[in-house]
Amino acid sequence: MENRKIGALELIADPNIPVPHGFTTRMGGVSTGIFSSLNLGMHRGDDSKNVAENYRILCQALGFSEENLVLTHQIHSDLVRVVDRTDAGKGFDHRAYPQCDALVTNTPGVALMVFTADCTPVLLYDRVTGAVGAAHAGWRGTASGIVSKTVEAMVTNFGSKPQDLVAAIGPNIGACCFETDTDVPEAILSALGDTAAPYITRKGEKFHLDLKAINGLWLYRAGVQTVTLSDYCTACSPHRFWSHRVTNGQRGSQGAVILCKEIQL
Ligand SMILES: [Zn+2]
Repeated sequence: MENRKIGALELIADPNIPVPHGFTTRMGGVSTGIFSSLNLGMHRGDDSKNVAENYRILCQALGFSEENLVLTHQIHSDLVRVVDRTDAGKGFDHRAYPQCDALVTNTPGVALMVFTADCTPVLLYDRVTGAVGAAHAGWRGTASGIVSKTVEAMVTNFGSKPQDLVAAIGPNIGACCFETDTDVPEAILSALGDTAAPYITRKGEKFHLDLKAINGLWLYRAGVQTVTLSDYCTACSPHRFWSHRVTNGQRGSQGAVILCKEIQL
């Protein structure tokens, strides 16, 4: 994973993915105060004009139009939506879009976006068909294997082969800072069995989980062989990323975005 600067914008990107994409940071937007500066979350208390301008800055930097965007209206589920051109361009308010936590498309010109501020963002790209996916994996989504369901949706709807997929797991709250009670490790272990045990560490009464690695495990089980993990922890770098835990929810939102493009043969 590498840092890419486009003007004032700073994105985290995966060199294995050749289409416009990125995990946004706080850098490069116009929002101020606790939303400084690239907040992509509407309804968080930020000025909606500034949020809209942040979207325009991001779209322009990545070389597509706001009319290309499809957003998730996230509900911490394992729902995956298959979308096309008719779903795009409904504006920057996520509530204008149907509820789900992951999107897939094989329509060139459609850009998918999910939101996070500690949860795990995952982008998928099919090297053969050009289909793309984007998933928001909270701990519940991680326990229910939303990334694996996103891969399945690409296989079922677009004929993708898991071995042709490239996955990028973006900045989230790392094992260093993601402390839980027994409910989270129990849910993860009951879904994945002992293969998840190396990524769960007990510290006294609490547990620390590596959600990047656990989502990586789901992807490997689904047959995806090329998986790249970001090194960043949102809670360790609160000036670079919004962390829900660090800010007690007084925060903006990061986006993870990817554009579907025609494959050039
Ligand atoms: Zn940390």
